[in-house]
Amino acid sequence: MRIDLHTHSNVSDGTDTPAELMAKARQAGLDVVALSDHDTFDGLDQAAESAARQGIRLVPAMEMSAALNGSSVHLLAYGADPTDAALSAELTRVRQGRMGRVGAVLAKLAALGLPLTEDDVMRQVGDSPSVGRPHIADALVAAGYLADRREAFDRYLSDTGPAHVERYAVDLASAIRLVADAGGAAVIAHPWGRGSRDVLTRDTLRSLASQLPLAGLEVDHQDHTHEQRTQLRRLARDLGLLVTGSSDFHGDGKTDHDLGCNTTESAVFEQLMARCDLA
Ligand code: AMP
Ligand code: ZN
Ligand code: FE
Ligand code: FE
Repeated sequence: MRIDLHTHSNVSDGTDTPAELMAKARQAGLDVVALSDHDTFDGLDQAAESAARQGIRLVPAMEMSAALNGSSVHLLAYGADPTDAALSAELTRVRQGRMGRVGAVLAKLAALGLPLTEDDVMRQVGDSPSVGRPHIADALVAAGYLADRREAFDRYLSDTGPAHVERYAVDLASAIRLVADAGGAAVIAHPWGRGSRDVLTRDTLRSLASQLPLAGLEVDHQDHTHEQRTQLRRLARDLGLLVTGSSDFHGDGKTDHDLGCNTTESAVFEQLMARCDLA
């Protein structure tokens, strides 16, 4: 069984439709795939139809924008109810925050000599309800200013870049509770990747695991070195947390994140599914 529990479609900031993603997953030899778009469940229906055609088991998921002490932490939610009122309300607020910051980013880019209009960005966003920095990066590329998303992040859009603007995210403890209350299993995405590495210390992870309904840690992820994976695996075992591995595939939007480049063990997957209310 080849299991990849973290992928993005163009319903957020990936570049494939959910159906294209499932077709590529089959080509990559995957048996189980979670579609985990940022702050939205909107791609799941299309993904489910396509997954059924491809003979793939789709795990309904979502990657929620959370925050801890001012730093960004991503929380993967597996099997949460997309219609849960409290969770939906928070996700709406996060997506409004995504939209609301676009103007401020564009003002910074203009001051840096890279003027774009909001329409330029919205052309890249298309039908996605979840506007992200990658769409702004795509608009910069389409305008001929830069070569690709990577250059846009490296020079302007990263968390420490000159065009970065904070946006609303859900306090991490609340996010974990919201996901669990919606019947989902919560797994912290790439805990020691850039952004969350500094705030998710061992002590913090220990207290989160002991006080909140946290199911696991995404250990095998391209943002983690071999040494970090070894340490996180040990920590997860000590804390009684499940260890997942995933690609964080974004289509052509991110290199070195090919489908199936990291995978999750079958036994762990079964335990994860047992932690959520999926029928
Ligand atoms: P946002 O959701 O607007 O905060 O943007 C964060 C998203 O940008 C992440 O989920 C990644 O998909 C993408 N991203 C972050 N850093 C990079 C990078 N260096 N190159 C390409 N994409 C990136
Ligand atoms: Zn993304
Ligand atoms: Fe993430
Ligand atoms: Fe992701």
